[in-house]
Amino acid sequence: MVDNNDNELQGMTEKDWKQKLTPEQYEVCRRKATELPFSGKYYYSKDKGIYKCVCCGNELFKSDTKFDSGTGWPSFFAPINQDNVEYHVDSSYGMKRIEIMCKKCGSHLGHVFDDGPLPTNKRYCINSVSLNLAKDEDK
Ligand SMILES: [Zn+2]
Repeated sequence: MVDNNDNELQGMTEKDWKQKLTPEQYEVCRRKATELPFSGKYYYSKDKGIYKCVCCGNELFKSDTKFDSGTGWPSFFAPINQDNVEYHVDSSYGMKRIEIMCKKCGSHLGHVFDDGPLPTNKRYCINSVSLNLAKDEDK
């Protein structure tokens, strides 16, 4: 089965992304920048809903898995589905970290650490800029 939307995403050039995204979104999602801690719009959010990829709408995290990590970035203990995300070893800045990306469009989301709460002990540390919350009451 061919999904036209996926094909369109694969054909997106860096120039296309620059036009589609805000400068801040472009820096984080396509250039792997990190937003300043405590600056993101979703850090304090307790709204119920589904956090989607700001670039392509892929469903990434449920609000039920969000927790207060004290780090300054929205944190989740699990993605909505392991098939929706992709992991890469990131050796930049002399650290070995696991980068997390949107599987559908390849956008940078944040990093995963092993100091999260139960039940997974994982902490998905995600940029607010990479996310778009579809609130339950909007449905
Ligand atoms: Zn995406």
